[in-house]
Amino acid sequence: MSTRREFIQTLPAVGTAFAVAGQLLLDDSPANAQTQSQAPTPLKGHFHPKGKAPSKYTLDMLKQARTGLLFTDTRDFDEQKRGLIAPMKDLKIMADAGHVAWDMERFQFLDKQEDFDSIHPSLLRQSKLNNNYGLYEVVPGIYQVRGFDLSDISFVRGKTGWIVFDPLVSKEPVRAAWKLFQQHVGQGLPVSAVIYSHTHADHWGGVRGIVDEADVRSGKVPVIAPVDFMNFTVSENVYAGNAMNRRLFYQYGLLLPASPHGYVGQGLGQAVSAGAVGLIAPNRYVEKPIEEFEVDGVRMIFQNTPNTEAPREMNTYIPDMKALWMAENVIASLHNIYTLRGAPVRDPLNWSKYIGEALFRFGLEADVMFASHHWPRWGNDRIQEVLRGQRDLYAHMNNQVLHLANQGVTINQIHNVYEVPKGLQSKWFCRGYHGSPEHNSRGVIQRYLGFWDCNPTTLIPLSPGDSAPLYVEMGGAEKIIARGQQLHNEGRYLYAQEIVNKLVQAEPQNQAAKDLLADIFEQLGYQQENPGLRNSYLAAAYELRTGIPQGETANSSSPDVIRAMSTELFLNFLGIRMDSRKAEGMRFTMNLVTPDNGEKFIVELENATLTNIKGFQAEKPNLTLTINRTDLEQTMMGAKTLEAQLADGTATVQGDVTILKQLASTMVEFDPRFEIMPGTKSKTVVAKEDPYEAADMGQPIAE
Ligand SMILES: [Zn+2]
Repeated sequence: MSTRREFIQTLPAVGTAFAVAGQLLLDDSPANAQTQSQAPTPLKGHFHPKGKAPSKYTLDMLKQARTGLLFTDTRDFDEQKRGLIAPMKDLKIMADAGHVAWDMERFQFLDKQEDFDSIHPSLLRQSKLNNNYGLYEVVPGIYQVRGFDLSDISFVRGKTGWIVFDPLVSKEPVRAAWKLFQQHVGQGLPVSAVIYSHTHADHWGGVRGIVDEADVRSGKVPVIAPVDFMNFTVSENVYAGNAMNRRLFYQYGLLLPASPHGYVGQGLGQAVSAGAVGLIAPNRYVEKPIEEFEVDGVRMIFQNTPNTEAPREMNTYIPDMKALWMAENVIASLHNIYTLRGAPVRDPLNWSKYIGEALFRFGLEADVMFASHHWPRWGNDRIQEVLRGQRDLYAHMNNQVLHLANQGVTINQIHNVYEVPKGLQSKWFCRGYHGSPEHNSRGVIQRYLGFWDCNPTTLIPLSPGDSAPLYVEMGGAEKIIARGQQLHNEGRYLYAQEIVNKLVQAEPQNQAAKDLLADIFEQLGYQQENPGLRNSYLAAAYELRTGIPQGETANSSSPDVIRAMSTELFLNFLGIRMDSRKAEGMRFTMNLVTPDNGEKFIVELENATLTNIKGFQAEKPNLTLTINRTDLEQTMMGAKTLEAQLADGTATVQGDVTILKQLASTMVEFDPRFEIMPGTKSKTVVAKEDPYEAADMGQPIAE
């Protein structure tokens, strides 16, 4: 069983030894068994032996970007520094499992130079800002530990202790943050409440570092979240989870070393921590659109903002401190409408309206505004400036993209036509460090009109591998390489990729073509302001040059997260994991009963399709399986097989038990290393353990 995180941990290539290990991987890789015709001298200081320096076109482009940006506005740097109580001295935070959970050392290079010729100046600026690492006072009574993870953790003084907003991705960084906080301002007081602002994993995954579950179950520590939090926490990542995990290798550049030629941060924060992820279910939900109550003696007004940055999210206003918590709805960046790892497209108009509501409900009087990423804003003028700018950014993207679509601009053109208005472009907090105007504008069309550009040619198009040879046969590989190289040499990288990609699609084993495409992608990567785009180009370049790295994959998952999945979600996902081609001709009706939570299901396999319906029981099932939900979780987590549960009587069956074996024989294990760029495939096969294990579903994804 493989998970993204474990796969990465097993890779010898990740870490400081990357350059050496990268070479080993290169020698091992199937891709490298091909031609070695072009063996350029490695660029000094580049992590990859085939890495190239930025071209003069890239240098020009970055220079122009530098002059076009408002570097004289340095308010972000003032705000980021303001209130520093104590920097964190340890640059690494270790995980209990023995590996490094958090590593700020690898980003120190960003502060050693003013400029890098291979990093967009705006992205570099954001990454320098995200290099903050320590404990900060927001206002007396509100503190943040920043730079310990992709997200920030915030502490608000309650009557009896500390109210925690958004406990990061994993346990160990949270524990370290709490320790630093207690050393300076915590006064030894306990955590008196936890607030999860929304469903993404970087806002709850570290909760076990700071709260004992028994105290939550007993009600001693309230854990507060927006309504339906549990339903949406996992479901967003389950059905297409393996594909999302694979795509994260691109968006988050998971195999790229931190380096001027590689990974330089993620815009939202420097990276995602790699400690233990856990989840304690909330014991109090905010259900109404606006709800006011006291949390440990502090008056709070909660504003639910469903279907904005996350399916369930909420802002919070603390009127007695005039402090506005904007969750992740307003941060120092344009956020994702469409997210490159893959997710249902978000609703920018709805998002904008909720920001507008926060502005007029709270923003006209707030003195300080803080959020789960980046740094706070002080003073009402500044707060209004940021709220209005962000409100308009999302509304403009919605309105102007649809304006253009209504005049015939398609999903395949919009990113070359749509522009953020100049007034917003000049505001740093509207720039694309997470969403980019390019992929977001396409997302808006996708949301309203879908993928089809209305040209019938694209209704039933050939697959790329089938269409590409038609282009290649007209001129031949040599001509394409020559022309592609020429376009590359002229700095026309988007043109060059158009034809060289066709050749790579047609001839996946053509290493010269793959190397040229990698060179093109690398220049495009250096030119991007958006880290998701940069990482994606550089990740593809890496895989084209080296192949997908091989590595043993380990078995595990986060039991807490599995526990959060409903049985229905688990059964739905079995239907996705089933290779229906193996189920032709099979037919059965099964009753599933989980007595401890009173649930029952009919599960049917018919027409090579596995379906389930909750709340029903068949009168004459082929099989009835009875197992407590708590025991079923053991199987879902891979702790105990279904067979073992049947053998020791934990689960009982009536009827034809061979049905379970039949069903198991149709299950397929998803491998997070499937090929994206042609001719890069790893030879390693994922070992299959328990067909009913759910460990590869719902890997929590930070955002
Ligand atoms: Zn987040």
